[in-house]
Amino acid sequence: MFESLQERLGSILNGLTGRGALSQADVAAALREVRRALLEADVALEVVRSFIDKVREKAVGTEVLKSIKPGQMVVKIVHDELVSMLGEEGVPIDLNAAAPVVLMMVGLQGSGKTTTSAKIAKRLTGRQGKKVLMASLDTRRPAAQEQLRQLGEQIQVATLPVVAGQSPVEIARRAVQAARLGGHDVVILDTAGRTHIDEPLMVEMAEIRSASNPHEILLVADSLTGQDAVNLARNFDERVGVTGLVLTRMDGDGRGGAALSMRAVTGKPIKLIGTGEKMDALEEFYPKRIADRILG
Ligand code: GDP
Repeated sequence: MFESLQERLGSILNGLTGRGALSQADVAAALREVRRALLEADVALEVVRSFIDKVREKAVGTEVLKSIKPGQMVVKIVHDELVSMLGEEGVPIDLNAAAPVVLMMVGLQGSGKTTTSAKIAKRLTGRQGKKVLMASLDTRRPAAQEQLRQLGEQIQVATLPVVAGQSPVEIARRAVQAARLGGHDVVILDTAGRTHIDEPLMVEMAEIRSASNPHEILLVADSLTGQDAVNLARNFDERVGVTGLVLTRMDGDGRGGAALSMRAVTGKPIKLIGTGEKMDALEEFYPKRIADRILG
């Protein structure tokens, strides 16, 4: 297991108790440990750098209260800054638009898009009583279309029947049309991923976007993504325009640094987190919890 930031800083800074303000040198020593902790938690390097700069600004000159140790003081500053950078908690999926509201799910292959599409559908149909239609736009992988159909059956949510030979854009149009005719409140478009970002993928996403006018574009990403998180989030946001993030596999051993990286790069809210393979393993995002996890 990792040593917590508190433990690491304790040994460096505890000699300071009652000595007044944190000096440049104290802070520099502490920030080396903070940097190491963030990198171990898989936060991308460029995000670590800007984070450290912010914390340095806040920490230097801070009075060390008599009642707490300087290590705890730095941990508090780091923790508060992490929570602030991770953004607001519990931002709901925005359905405030004319029906059918289109939700477009984007992300790399294997990130959990199809599973998350179904989890969201289940949540909307259950708690919120919405009528939902799901459509798989993954024409390259028939197994993906079948997977969505089976999940739909399991959670009793309609899926758009597959018509052989249609392009993703054609399927998107047909899905919106079918939802309109069928009186659905929400259409969830489960787009195709690739194993890595490439130009054809970005072009396809932009075309689907134009054809279906989604109200939300949710980037689904594996929370175990390391340094690639920045690239991934930046590309999807710049090329397709993301409105929110969903981090999957938060039930795993990862420390969740990707959450910070992706939020920092896009400024878009983390709307939900996936915590398992089951259909109800979808939770609200609480920045404090992720901050604790990142700091260990
Ligand atoms: P897609 O290729 O992006 O559509 O990914 P899938 O939805 O097919 O997910 C890939 C695998 O990850 C499947 O085996 C899912 O059950 C699993 N998965 C998805 N989300 C989570 C999650 O939050 N936690 C865990 N443990 N597994 C997940």
